[in-house]
Amino acid sequence: MSSQSQYGGDSNMQSKQAASSSEKHVEKASTPGRRAEKKLRAGVLGATGIVGQRLVSLLAGHPWFELTEVAASERSSGKTYAEAVSWHLDAPIPRSARNLVVKGLDPSLDCDFVLSALDSSVAGSAEEDFARAGYPVVSNSRNHRMDPDVPLLIPEVNAAHLDAIPRQQKNHGYDTGFIVTNPNCSTASLVLVLKPLADAFGLEKIFVVTLQAISGAGYPGVPAMDIQGNVIPFISGEEEKMELEPQKLLGKWDGSRFVDAGIGLSAHCNRVPVVDGHLECLSVGLKKIASLHEVREALRNFEIGAELASLPTALKNPVVVLDDENRPQPRRDANAGNGMAAVVGRVRECPLLDVKLTLLAHNLVRGAAGAAFLNAELLAARGFLKRRSAVREQNLAEPVSR
Ligand code: NAP
Repeated sequence: MSSQSQYGGDSNMQSKQAASSSEKHVEKASTPGRRAEKKLRAGVLGATGIVGQRLVSLLAGHPWFELTEVAASERSSGKTYAEAVSWHLDAPIPRSARNLVVKGLDPSLDCDFVLSALDSSVAGSAEEDFARAGYPVVSNSRNHRMDPDVPLLIPEVNAAHLDAIPRQQKNHGYDTGFIVTNPNCSTASLVLVLKPLADAFGLEKIFVVTLQAISGAGYPGVPAMDIQGNVIPFISGEEEKMELEPQKLLGKWDGSRFVDAGIGLSAHCNRVPVVDGHLECLSVGLKKIASLHEVREALRNFEIGAELASLPTALKNPVVVLDDENRPQPRRDANAGNGMAAVVGRVRECPLLDVKLTLLAHNLVRGAAGAAFLNAELLAARGFLKRRSAVREQNLAEPVSR
């Protein structure tokens, strides 16, 4: 069977950057409805980094959003984007981005919202500054993921967590601004696969071992001398994130706080000499007894609802199950569904827990830039993103007390 016919779904937005031409998939989520005529203007913070480049490149073809600002460190600011960036994608720098002048992190950008791919050393305070200045912030960084009023979001898993935004705005005195984050790259695909299993059978215990690509470390990342022909059994902070973030993602927003899912979870994280695509070997203990057939079907039949299906980056079936015994593989499967699918294979019995399987996703797409897009699209669909000029006009129209 060809790799093309093995994948079931495709995103609405056919990203040429994310998928090779041989990976055009067949089944689309429903066509997005007509949006407002003018696109929402996006700024990218950390636009010169490896995730920022993906954001810039995906914005070039986006039907709802357009890139108007790029920002990065003092090393880059003042240069044109083409001068500042060390470009890593196969497709060239989009024309719309090449001549944009890179700005610093002053929260006065000409855009309606920001996508943040800032290094975590600066993301925490910079994202708060932007939220305070009225910008919705859609972040990839770890800094605010576990904040008690910040949604850690995977739309297919916990869209209801967006209800926390008004509480966040009240707590911090934000007006139109707020922060929404996507999870750590390994957590994103893990939880996407766990969600249908949680819904169908309940989850008791998870044991997961990762084999993570070098692009997960940013650029220039892990030195070639360390990773070539080698495996590094330590990624700083990664196991802690993988053990904590799923609890929030699979938990609930109860109207005033996030309640953890309370799942037993142990993670081992390793860096391997693969460019893109994090592979994970997963063992799961289920609350209800399930056959392997039922587990495969629960994963295969995981389908998004109508609201999510209208989002350009969404896949109708975000989990793809392969039957070949030697799949998924990073080189062959990381771009499935334009990089937005979690690809599962080797579903089999686990002698310690109940079921074991292998999963894979593109760490820079499903684990970062694509995840941020899906979050921004859901925010736009729910009316959380507005044109800033409209917001200003609305404020000016407020009656002035005499
Ligand atoms: P990266 O390649 O190292 O890029 C970091 C970006 O942050 C660059 O644009 C850099 O600008 C900017 N930056 C660094 N220091 C700065 C400062 N003092 N002031 C302003 N900007 C500064 O990292 P990355 O892999 O793209 O990751 C970006 C974020 O996404 C990180 O928080 C990371 O944890 C998270 N993330 C990464 C992945 C992944 O697979 N790589 C997945 C999920 C989440 P200059 O070019 O000007 O230095």
